[in-house]
Amino acid sequence: MSSGDTNSKSQTTNLTDHRDIGQALDLFSFHSVAPGTVFWHGNGMIIWRELEKYLREKLDTLGYQEVSTPIMVKKELFEKSGHWQHYRENMFTLDVDDEIYVLKPMNCPESTLIYSSRVRSYRDLPIRMSEITDKIHRKELSGTLGGLLRVRQMTQDDAHHYVRPDQIGEEVSNLLDLIKEFYSHFNMSLSFNLATKPDNSMGDPNIWSEAEKDLESVLKKAKVKYQIKEKDGAFYGPKVDINATDSQNREWTIATIQLDFQLPERFELEYVAEDGSKKRPVIIHRAIAGSFERFIGVLLEHTEGKLPTWLSPTQAIIMPISEKQTDYAKKVFNNFKKEDIRVQFNNSSETISKRIREAELQKIPYILVVGEKEEDNSNISVRQRSVGDIGAMQTEEILKKIKKEITDRI
Ligand SMILES: [Zn+2]
Repeated sequence: MSSGDTNSKSQTTNLTDHRDIGQALDLFSFHSVAPGTVFWHGNGMIIWRELEKYLREKLDTLGYQEVSTPIMVKKELFEKSGHWQHYRENMFTLDVDDEIYVLKPMNCPESTLIYSSRVRSYRDLPIRMSEITDKIHRKELSGTLGGLLRVRQMTQDDAHHYVRPDQIGEEVSNLLDLIKEFYSHFNMSLSFNLATKPDNSMGDPNIWSEAEKDLESVLKKAKVKYQIKEKDGAFYGPKVDINATDSQNREWTIATIQLDFQLPERFELEYVAEDGSKKRPVIIHRAIAGSFERFIGVLLEHTEGKLPTWLSPTQAIIMPISEKQTDYAKKVFNNFKKEDIRVQFNNSSETISKRIREAELQKIPYILVVGEKEEDNSNISVRQRSVGDIGAMQTEEILKKIKKEITDRI
C-alpha cells in the first residue's frame, strides 16, 4: 500500500510493478493519511503534464471546448441523474450547511448544465466538451486499492459530445481514429468490443437498434478487430470498449465510447431542429487514456519504466569523464538546455562507469559522455537506452535526433 514509505527496491533493475518503478524513479508515493490517493512528485508530474499537453494539442485541433465543473455539488444533481439511487455506495458525501453534498464521482451530470445554459441549434452540434483537469472521487473499498490502478481520487481524460442522432456514426468514427492515433505512440495493440442492448435498457428501442447499427458499421469501416458483446451495454446506451494489450500480454480496458440516451431525457436537453421543433441530443461519453493515474500505472508496467523520450522526466544526461572536460561538457549541457531538453549534468567524483550505471537505473534515454578524445573532436559519445553505445556524434546531430523523438512522440 505505502510503497513510497520504503526505499528497499530502488536498486533493482528490471522492475515490472509500477509501484516499484514509481519509487525507483521518484514519480509518486502513497501515504497512510490519504488511502487510495496519489502524492505526485516532480518527476511524476512531468509525465502527467506531457500527456495532458499532447491531449490538449489534439483536442484543440478537433474542435473541443475545454470546460471545468465543481468537485463538490448538492446531492440533488445526482438524484436527477439517477446516480444517487444506483451509485450511492460509491459516492463520498459531506454535510455542508445542513445539506448533503457529494464529491462528484463523474463529470457528466454537471457537463449537461453547461449544455443547457444556452439555446442550442442543430447547427451548433456536435458540441464537444472535454474535462481533463477535474478530480473525481469514488469510494473504493480500502482492501481493493492498488497503487495507481485503483484509486479513490482520479482525473479522467473525459469528454462529452452532444450530437444529433444522425451524427453518431461520424462522431464515433472520428473518435476511433483519435484513439488509434493516441495508442500508436505507446506501441500497444488494440481490440474493440461492441456492447449491445441489455434486458434492463431504457429508451426508444428504434434509436437503440439504429445506434448499434451505426457503431458496427463504423467499426467495420475502421478495419479493426472487434467482438460483439451481446446485452453487455449500459442500461442507458450501447458502448464500444477498447482494450489495449501491453508488453506482458495483459489486456487493459482503458478507452471507452458510450452512447447515452438517458441523461439527455433526465436533464431535458434540447436543440432546435431545422424545422423549429425541439429535439433531444444524444450524449457520447468517452475517455481515451481513461484516468491519468491508471494510464500512467499501465504505461510504467508496459515499458518497465523505460518511457518514450517525450515522457521521460530526464531526457538526457551529460557527464565529463574527468574534471578537465567540465567546461566543454557544460557548454554541451547549455546547448541542450537552450533547446528545452530536460537534461541533467553529472560531474561527481564517482567513476564514469558508476555514473553511467546510475543513469541507466534512472532509465534516462540518452547518456552523453565527454572525454579528452570527444573534446578534441568537438563531439560526444552517445549511449542510447536499450540500444547501447551508438558512437560519437556532433552536438547538433544528437540534438536533432532527440528533438525529433520528442516532436513526433515516438
Ligand atoms: Zn460521462
